Amino acid sequence: MADELWTIGRLLKWTEQYFQKAGVDSPRLDSEVLLCHVLKKERIYLYVHFDQPLSNEELAEFKSYIKQRVQHKPVAYIVGHKDFMGLDFIVTEDTLIPRPDTEILVETVIFRLKTGAGDIGAIADIGTGSGAICLSLLKYLSSLQAVSVDVSAEAIAVARENAQRMGLSSRIEFLQGDLLEPVKDRKFIAIVSNPPYIPAGDIVSLDQDVKSFEPELALNGGEDGLDFYRRLVVDSLPLLEDEGFLAMEIGINQSDALVELAEKAGWGRIEIVKDLAGINRVVVLWKQK
Ligand code: SAM
Ligand code: GLN
Repeated sequence: MADELWTIGRLLKWTEQYFQKAGVDSPRLDSEVLLCHVLKKERIYLYVHFDQPLSNEELAEFKSYIKQRVQHKPVAYIVGHKDFMGLDFIVTEDTLIPRPDTEILVETVIFRLKTGAGDIGAIADIGTGSGAICLSLLKYLSSLQAVSVDVSAEAIAVARENAQRMGLSSRIEFLQGDLLEPVKDRKFIAIVSNPPYIPAGDIVSLDQDVKSFEPELALNGGEDGLDFYRRLVVDSLPLLEDEGFLAMEIGINQSDALVELAEKAGWGRIEIVKDLAGINRVVVLWKQK
């Protein structure tokens, strides 16, 4: 067995079984993505080259990735990239891995800007992480400018690199600081945020991939998960143009609390958008009715 050749097909089969035993969530997909990263090829390549043997160097690199994955390091951190909105983002352990759920927020904002507030002007992305939200918006709306804020200098460095790679640096400014503090003298047509929203006590019960590797700073929303919303709902209102809106991703079962906060703060109109699973996922607060 040992002197049998390690071909792509044999390696994938072995790794899938090994990952399965180790409790890795999507064993086949993860094996393929990691092998593609070693070979610098697309996934389709694997299927038409099942009999191709790997070199010793390729095998050693793949083995190091397998070791990291069975310790539950997310694939995106191992390969250093994540696809979001059809764009390729660099991610590190200082940035949250952008989630498919957050694409609902981006799509909601694109649609609202195109049909309502207007897509010429400046937006703010609060808690930018890898820059996934604001850079996608800039990519798909070519007359928009953005300011991105994060409290983490390391996250900002990653977002800045993503902006450069996407050719968007001239349309975005990065500021380090606490929520809206760095932009308190500006006006925006939209403020967008996916703030940390996991209740502090729930962090221990998250998937091991998430709780052991993703930055707690990106997840912990305080005792009831609503700390950042309490501040954003109040502090955003004066920073918006009259036709502007605040759009935020929310966690499961948080929409009722958000509506209550928004009503208290005096927003003109409240919209809730569901995700594909039917869960209330995005709240849009309009300055005017
Ligand atoms: N926008 C990215 C996305 O959707 O993939 C990252 C969202 S992550 C859930 C929240 C982000 O907020 C993290 O990058 C974290 O560093 C940042 N953050 C946490 N506390 C903050 C604060 N007080 N002010 C600004 N940003 C903060
Ligand atoms: N969606 C992330 C998770 O479920 C949480 C992101 C956030 O707190 N905004 O792990």
